[in-house]
Amino acid sequence: MGGAEQAYIQQAFNVNWISTAGPQINQLESRLAAYTQNKHAAVLASGTAALHLALRILGVNAGDSVICQTFTFAGSAFPITYQGATPVFIDSEPGTWNMDPNILEDSLKQITKSSNQQLPKAIIPVHLYGMPAQMDEIRQVAGKYAIPIIEDAAEALGSVYRGRPCGSWGDMGVLSFNGNKIITTSGGGALLSDNRQYIEKARFLATQARDAAPHYQHSEAGYNYRMGNINAAIGLGQMEVLDERVKRKREIWQFYYNELKEIFEFQLPAEKIQVNKSTAKQIRSNRWLTTIITRSFAQREALRQALETENIESRPLWKPMHLQPVFKEAPCFGGGVAEDLFERGLCLPSGTALTEEDLTRIVAIIKRVIR
Ligand SMILES: *Cc1c(COP(=O)(O)O)cnc(C)c1O
Repeated sequence: MGGAEQAYIQQAFNVNWISTAGPQINQLESRLAAYTQNKHAAVLASGTAALHLALRILGVNAGDSVICQTFTFAGSAFPITYQGATPVFIDSEPGTWNMDPNILEDSLKQITKSSNQQLPKAIIPVHLYGMPAQMDEIRQVAGKYAIPIIEDAAEALGSVYRGRPCGSWGDMGVLSFNGNKIITTSGGGALLSDNRQYIEKARFLATQARDAAPHYQHSEAGYNYRMGNINAAIGLGQMEVLDERVKRKREIWQFYYNELKEIFEFQLPAEKIQVNKSTAKQIRSNRWLTTIITRSFAQREALRQALETENIESRPLWKPMHLQPVFKEAPCFGGGVAEDLFERGLCLPSGTALTEEDLTRIVAIIKRVIR
């Protein structure tokens, strides 16, 4: 926690708004919309709930397909199955580790060629570990086929792409405030958009889809997906330290990078974008997690186990969705890049509470293993 959270919680108690409405919810929604440069925001029970509502709002139903980055956390893809739709997975490109715009375009060409196949109803790119995906290229392809984009920015609050915040590049954007994210409301998420109707529809569906009537009347199925006002109060406190957290996360990444760049590969902004310096500067990952690519699976495991022996937790990168037993029937275009990242990649300790001493110790252990 940042320090101001309890004061915000006290304010919520003072006005006695404890449940899923209240001034703290309204304030957090305004703050998030302003911070991410969206016109509207709805805070919700989780990032997964936000993604699910986005799919509902776009009319995704049984028999439809939705394109999703394969290299991601399962929370990006599960909501597709809630709607009875099929995920179509797309491989990553080696630089940012996010959705490869060329593979995306190839997949849509192939899908349109086979006569009885309908176009996917939405595209879900992810800014994994906070690294902005190539949104210009992805938007160009999506625009060509008129497919809406749901931007999964769950890991990327505080990241910037071409001078504009992540979460502002899709038809809708999704944030998560789960306990492991850069800021937390204990659990929660948000749906972001410039489209007022989308956000109003999200609030309607999130509160059990109650029609305007004095009695309880429902014309369609709804959900209990709202965030509580006490959680929103925590969120207001967390927003005060967000920029500080991003700064510290980026310092931690820089420390590892300086020490280890000759030994491992790191996740970097897309090269194509770095054509001129001013643009390159405008691409900024929040460096939610520092991640490295080792030489081999064996080396990755040796490192992970050596750290574990010292009671230091590290973890393999996300296992691609197309390799998950639950998604074994789902189509995937490409997949080799994501598989390689999973095989050789490792998340290093990245908590903002790490001291220089901690970091020095971790790096020393890593270098010892490599030698
Ligand atoms: C955390 C996360 C989600 C889901 O958010 P929850 O708030 O945990 O439901 C979705 N996508 C990605 C990429 C995430 O990291």
